[in-house]
Amino acid sequence: MSVEELSKLSLAETMVTTRAGAARARAAPSQDTQQSASSSEASSPTPSLIVSTNGLQYDVSEFDGDLRKRAKRGLIYEDNDIEMKFCEATEDDPKKYLFHLADDITVAMNGGNTPKCSCGANEDGRACKHIFWMLGQLTSQVQKTQPLQLAKDGSTVRDTRPAELIKKYGFETIAGHLDWPLLEEELPEEEDMVDEIANMLSVFEPTDDLPADFKSDETRDLSSRKYQEFKDLIADHAKKNNGLYIQLQGIIDRAFRARVFFAKIDHRIDRAFDAFQEYIAKGPTRTNAAQVDVKNCANRLKGLVQTIAEYYHEQIEEHPDPEDLATRAGKALLDILDGVADRDFDAYENITWSSEHPTDPKDRNLFVFLIYARPEDEGLFVLDTLQGLPQDGVIRHHWALIQGILEKLNRSNLWTPQEYMDAFRTLYPETRKRAASETGGSSAKRPMQ
Ligand SMILES: [Zn+2]
Repeated sequence: MSVEELSKLSLAETMVTTRAGAARARAAPSQDTQQSASSSEASSPTPSLIVSTNGLQYDVSEFDGDLRKRAKRGLIYEDNDIEMKFCEATEDDPKKYLFHLADDITVAMNGGNTPKCSCGANEDGRACKHIFWMLGQLTSQVQKTQPLQLAKDGSTVRDTRPAELIKKYGFETIAGHLDWPLLEEELPEEEDMVDEIANMLSVFEPTDDLPADFKSDETRDLSSRKYQEFKDLIADHAKKNNGLYIQLQGIIDRAFRARVFFAKIDHRIDRAFDAFQEYIAKGPTRTNAAQVDVKNCANRLKGLVQTIAEYYHEQIEEHPDPEDLATRAGKALLDILDGVADRDFDAYENITWSSEHPTDPKDRNLFVFLIYARPEDEGLFVLDTLQGLPQDGVIRHHWALIQGILEKLNRSNLWTPQEYMDAFRTLYPETRKRAASETGGSSAKRPMQ
């Protein structure tokens, strides 16, 4: 059954599709409910026809008084405080559906078996209020036509087994309509869950910290400390209520987290280059806590390259769109290399704020420091990390940037070591051919020195 067909089934005007809707229904019971309940109750305290909060009629004429009370408590929300924490389907065949309710109660439904509840009241072939609540929820989307016959043990509603109903409508569709958190990947251990929450919430961190910074306990400013307390509070609740954790994962999904992460990285790249420019223009200033000379700027950039690499490898396994992640990582790395290629000049050439300058060429030129004079135990700046990414998306989306860097590296030939040029060309050999065919071969004619 498609979503469209299902929504056509959802004709009951009082259908509850969200918790907010359920709350409204609780606050203002429908006319139907009030009338039916009061007219039935006039003749019997436990009517043989129960009208649920959703306005659907359930036939319980076969039930004894006690079972009718249970059914009523389950089907009329004002009479219970049952709440879904989260639900999941196991890999069994047929699938077993598990519904984790508040107060550590679990209702299980699978295939032709009678639903089971862990509350203790569900025995001797009699359903409990949780099972009746589940049946009420699962049927809340059907049309109001005739009364729905309930089985005493909760095994059927209008002769249909609940597990079959779920299979027919689709578990995800039902969970979506009823706003039930659905567990899609295994829950992590508690410690890992806290880490994951720190990662997720870092997207809202007020001082632009990255997930890795967010976990450290360094002294922070007030808003950041407040935020840390807020994160701890959420983590405490999520440990107790895994449904909250699942909901957080749905809101702060991996694609969104990657977007925020790379926006922060972009900002840091800009800040590193800006601070370096400021150093050249004004020298070490009071506003500049760290003196961002050639060496410090180089170290900041190396740190960013490492942060990008670590984030990429941490996320790639679980990321819903690996090419997008690689493309974003590639763009940030290329931006760093592009900025360095733009800074192949003597930073001290025109300064007036001091007469004491470093004499070693590498301490005067950012490009020389990072590309030419790298220590033997370090890999090729940026390129080593780029080599760890799949190149297709990076090349397709950022070809102009790659081409621009290549030209700058060629111009800087005096300082660009052959080894570096070779690695760059090895990384992007196909791109030159592709670009040549796309642009009518003009770029292929450009001499490669
Ligand atoms: Zn129960």
